[in-house]
Amino acid sequence: MPSKLNPCELQIDLFCRGLRIDASCTLEEDARFLSRTRAGLGSGLDLVIPGELKDIWVNVPVEEDFVPDSPYLLVRVDSEYRVRDTGNGHEYPVEIPDEPRWYTETTSKGTPMHRVGVLQGTYLGIYVSNSCSFWYHSPSLGCKFCTTGLNVGVNESAEKEVDDVVEVAQAAKAESGITFVHMNSGFAGKDRGLDIIAPYVKGLKERVGVLTGVQVTPSPNLWKYDWLRDCGVDHFSFCYEFHNPKFFAEICPGKEKFLGQRTFFNALEYTAKKMGPGRVSGEIIAGVEPLEDTLRAIDYITGIGAFPTICIFRPTLGAEMERHPSPRYEDMRTVMEYMWDACRRNNIPIGVAPKIEVSLIVSPDDARYLPKRNLKWRIYELKLAAARRVAKPLFARELKPHKVHGDPAKYPTGSPEPIQAGTDEAVDLARRLGVNV
Ligand code: SF4
Repeated sequence: MPSKLNPCELQIDLFCRGLRIDASCTLEEDARFLSRTRAGLGSGLDLVIPGELKDIWVNVPVEEDFVPDSPYLLVRVDSEYRVRDTGNGHEYPVEIPDEPRWYTETTSKGTPMHRVGVLQGTYLGIYVSNSCSFWYHSPSLGCKFCTTGLNVGVNESAEKEVDDVVEVAQAAKAESGITFVHMNSGFAGKDRGLDIIAPYVKGLKERVGVLTGVQVTPSPNLWKYDWLRDCGVDHFSFCYEFHNPKFFAEICPGKEKFLGQRTFFNALEYTAKKMGPGRVSGEIIAGVEPLEDTLRAIDYITGIGAFPTICIFRPTLGAEMERHPSPRYEDMRTVMEYMWDACRRNNIPIGVAPKIEVSLIVSPDDARYLPKRNLKWRIYELKLAAARRVAKPLFARELKPHKVHGDPAKYPTGSPEPIQAGTDEAVDLARRLGVNV
């Protein structure tokens, strides 16, 4: 009989093969509802696989076309859940995270809180803008793996008020203990992504006290990243999806037409240099472009000091690529071990921020289970433990509400298209930021 998988190997295989649900399960009572948001990636079931290095969070595909062929079956035995491998009989105990109480509450404006943000692993994910404008072209220029155009505004609020986002983050911090809010938006057109996000970041820093992450399409106006950092952004991520330019152009036609890969790289390199190792992510999808391209992407991302965020491709229902095959476990294991080693070689701090577990990807921290536990592995572990100790008081300070700045008028130069003082655009932006004009 093949040996049992370690927690990260099981996570990878579940991403690749999905999970069937046995009739013994009572997920309506025990689990979070399935959220079809965030490019469709969060459409699965969140599970926690306990492990001796760390527990692993995984958002497992349960409804895609390939799932009925999966050997994995979720069963409930004596009120505990297990993933059973029906091919070899191995069983893995897992936990199903509860639905947070605040999901059924409303904000003071009457907005249901789960329509403002949802937990993705242990952090709060907010899709801030009303959609992605790539979907409004005919034919659509949306990324071919994405279902955002089908979800936003149906399963969650199309436009989110800053006050609603702040209240939901306050509830999620108080009840679920979140430390991180990740704000994400599709293409907003006319380089508006960061402008739209800024007031949310400021509100979260001043009224909640959480770490903040921003993921919007990149701006060619690099001064805006300095401005957003002044508003309180702790982390930027850039989804350029595919390293191979042909795959990028073919699968992400909107990003190719309006931005180009170079715009992603410029923003990634600029912010990585300014913010230091591990504070910026380059996000790619593994399992579609050739493996060598994915490994090249990892070398590029870690080589500039950024953090690799690697999604295993999921042929999400409703996406143009819903019939594309799910990747092979062996390939994805190779990618994830390579990712861990690239972080080690480039001294990228992983798993340092407190209580942030991501269920949509295999994080470099999860991938600690994959390599041989030799001297190199131990030295990196010691370095990471030291980094956690040093960072602890810094994070404690960030987790208290505090005043931030972020007046866009401070950054008039260095931009190819600065916002002109006195224009409607400048007044509108200043009003939303609470800056006097
Ligand atoms: S940019 Fe692409 S992946 Fe992001 S929301 Fe738009 S279509 Fe989806």
